[in-house]
Amino acid sequence: MVQKEKITEPLHRIVSDPGRILTKETDLVSYGYDASFGFYKPDVVVQVKSEEEVAGILKMANKLRVPVTPRGQASSLSGGPLPVEGGIVLDFSQWREKLVIDSEDMVAVVSPGVITADLDQEAAKYGLLYAPDPGSSHFSTIGGNLAENSGGPRCLKYGVTKDYVLGLRVVSPQGEIIRTGGRTVKNVTGYDLTKLIVGSEGTLGVITEATLRLIPRPLSSHTVMLIFDHFVEAAETVTKILTSRIQPAKIEMMDQASIQAVEAFKPQGLPVDAEAILLVGLDGHPAAVADDTARISEIASQMHVRSVRVDHSESEARELWMARKLVSPAIAAKKPTKISEDATVPRSKIPAFCKKLQDIKKKYQIDLVVFGHIGDGNLHPNIICDKRDREEMKRVWQAVEAIFKAAIELGGTLSGEHGIGTMKRAYMPWELTPQELDLMKRIKTAWDPNNILNPSKIFPSVRPKLVHSR
Ligand SMILES: Cc1cc2nc3c(=O)[nH]c(=O)nc-3n(C[C@H](O)[C@H](O)[C@H](O)COP(=O)(O)OP(=O)(O)OC[C@H]3O[C@@H](n4cnc5c(N)ncnc54)[C@H](O)[C@@H]3O)c2cc1C
Repeated sequence: MVQKEKITEPLHRIVSDPGRILTKETDLVSYGYDASFGFYKPDVVVQVKSEEEVAGILKMANKLRVPVTPRGQASSLSGGPLPVEGGIVLDFSQWREKLVIDSEDMVAVVSPGVITADLDQEAAKYGLLYAPDPGSSHFSTIGGNLAENSGGPRCLKYGVTKDYVLGLRVVSPQGEIIRTGGRTVKNVTGYDLTKLIVGSEGTLGVITEATLRLIPRPLSSHTVMLIFDHFVEAAETVTKILTSRIQPAKIEMMDQASIQAVEAFKPQGLPVDAEAILLVGLDGHPAAVADDTARISEIASQMHVRSVRVDHSESEARELWMARKLVSPAIAAKKPTKISEDATVPRSKIPAFCKKLQDIKKKYQIDLVVFGHIGDGNLHPNIICDKRDREEMKRVWQAVEAIFKAAIELGGTLSGEHGIGTMKRAYMPWELTPQELDLMKRIKTAWDPNNILNPSKIFPSVRPKLVHSR
């Protein structure tokens, strides 16, 4: 249990503006949530705005053994920014002053609180692209994206966040300021600490600045919508496209429940009797994009596709993508609780995983909605439920376990992009051997011997219910 006075007094010496130290009950409660559904109240929140403040706070917290939890915009779906053990929340959302584009080096140097879409918009002014585009890019921060190694639709062609990080400035749990990597495209000097920090979910170090790689912005793009009578045929078509020497930028999928939810929420003229829709995004040189668009239509004619729509203008493309964008708000409007999973399978196993998800839906009688980055094998099975209904939640948790088990049995993983956080940590031993987990724990101990930085995340605290499946 943290003694509040013990930490607020030194905090006032470290942070110049007392208005950025929040201790009111109403503030603390609102910092107890993220986009998952746990709730843990911090003892104090600091809206940090400089590296010196972060270093000073961590030095003090390490000395007093006070837990510290970094937080961006709290859009995490895995409980990452929740202060499970109380203590200090470091809020980075107000620290977004630096957003510098160097068009010759093709890099951006940014503060941790910069919003991802703002960075891409700035890069566009120079004909450049910041490729990672999580669905939350209009509200999540670069710091949060780096800590979760976020993905997104465009990652099918361009890779995930870690592929765009050249260097970081990081504060260690002891309050030391370190630099990792640099500004060059190539850098093999020593261990790659940059890649270790990326995806470490705020448990090893606190990111205070990032140098990110930018690439040329594609000259043109096209979107193709494919409508299917059968869910599994959509999955088979994805495999066919990906093995036909075409590299789409994105392939997103909506199942029938998603289509119906969108039509009930904000009608887009989608066929509610279709079992699935694929949205294929192509980008690059105009001639290549035109050619690939024609080839997708040709593939569609060989597969069981009910109908094909191709955009003829940017506004038509926006309309087609709007359907996919509306899935999350549409399903959230159905019931109070939304459990969003991101179990991921190898591409060849996409049809088998889709089939298993349908079986799970029937077996546990749950409201399961499936959509997401199907081209990466990274589906988002979402369970819509009401956490106050105990009987329903029992079936829901059984279904969640069945989804994890199915993904792992197919050679997949618990999380493709949302991270482990609090939500999946009990299942880590299903995917990793005790030796692998132990090695990860030893890395954590080497960085953070007093376990003050984002404790109670990633590692299971209790013995798992199922034995390791490999
Ligand atoms: C509607 C919706 C759509 C989404 N779509 C996607 C998607 O397509 N792809 C995807 O990958 N995710 C997606 N997400 C999940 C989420 O947006 C991402 O995980 C995002 O990267 C979190 O960013 P954030 O700024 O909100 O960070 P937070 O949620 O506040 O924190 C996330 C993690 O980062 C750590 N952290 C934050 N800042 C720092 C820092 N400066 N230094 C060290 N650690 C830090 C936190 O401790 C925590 O562990 C979606 C979420 C929602 C609600």
